[in-house]
Amino acid sequence: MDNNENKDNLCPPATKKIKIDNFGIKAILSDDYKKDIELMQVHSCQLESKQQLQAVIKELALKLPHFQHLKRVHDRNVLICPSDDIKESLEQHLKLHQISDNVLEALCRNVNVIEVPASSAKLRVQYEKMSKYWPCKFHPDKYAESLQNGSNFTDSQRAYHKRMAELLWKLSTDVSKGQNVGICVDPRRPSIVAIAGDGNSHQHCVMWLVDHVARSQRGGAWQSDVEFVKDEPHTKSTLSGLPQIFYDYLKQDTACQDLNLGAELPRREEHQQQSEPVVEDIHADNLCKYGPYLCTGYDVYLLREPCLMCSMALVHSRVKRIFFLEQSENGALTSKFQLHAVKELNHHYEVFQFTM
Ligand SMILES: [Zn+2]
Repeated sequence: MDNNENKDNLCPPATKKIKIDNFGIKAILSDDYKKDIELMQVHSCQLESKQQLQAVIKELALKLPHFQHLKRVHDRNVLICPSDDIKESLEQHLKLHQISDNVLEALCRNVNVIEVPASSAKLRVQYEKMSKYWPCKFHPDKYAESLQNGSNFTDSQRAYHKRMAELLWKLSTDVSKGQNVGICVDPRRPSIVAIAGDGNSHQHCVMWLVDHVARSQRGGAWQSDVEFVKDEPHTKSTLSGLPQIFYDYLKQDTACQDLNLGAELPRREEHQQQSEPVVEDIHADNLCKYGPYLCTGYDVYLLREPCLMCSMALVHSRVKRIFFLEQSENGALTSKFQLHAVKELNHHYEVFQFTM
């Protein structure tokens, strides 16, 4: 148990009134998208005539295949190889790589050491900066661009996310004594699948939330004194991931009446009840195809940025997106660490922070 997190969780109740209209939603992109341009030194040369170009380029592409992210030629200037690769002289290096005599002669005239971008651009803004050094190749990633400039959500999606941010505050202030609160949403309807607070235990809110989602799938391993909503017989969706105290609050709050509540039942169980065949849709994601499994396809909204343990639990449970309001001292998504930027993990969620 991490004492720091516990202290975080016990910070004073969130009493300020918040105005959701002023919220922005910012994608927390990995450092690859934000980092400054790294440069590398390379040997280049200026050819005497354009007639030499074809032979030179053909041979370089075959025998010194560097600089996939850059154009190899600019006017009559040619990139030969990274300067670091040359251990003795350029001529010896070219001979070592079996460059033919006439190409070698062309490359060894008018040699310069210049600086060029060391890696490819992920975003247009990086590409534009890099191109000032040397012409670059660029394959725009429309989705990454939209995350960066904030155009990835429709107005109604944005409005829903903001409502969830507001609900986090309300539940924390009015029900959970200012402690951390988490909401899990199936974004397809959208509908609230599970809600969790820190409760009276030492477990973190996210760990409870994952367990409450499991309850909606007829699982859930943790014992607690929390009372949950009981489903009506033959229900088509389940409210069993919702603690009664949060459910009652939502039911009495006039601002929450139009919110959908409940999770799709695990598919097998549902089909046993309804005897319907599974409809295959090749364009659907796993949640659409196979039904609820862990948090696959679900969004998680958190009042506070999760710690490393909780962030890892959300990786294991295959969450689609995480939205959080407040940074935490030991937060693992932007403050201390960027867990979702670790390439070696076998699942990656997207992370968004509400900004005021
Ligand atoms: Zn935690």
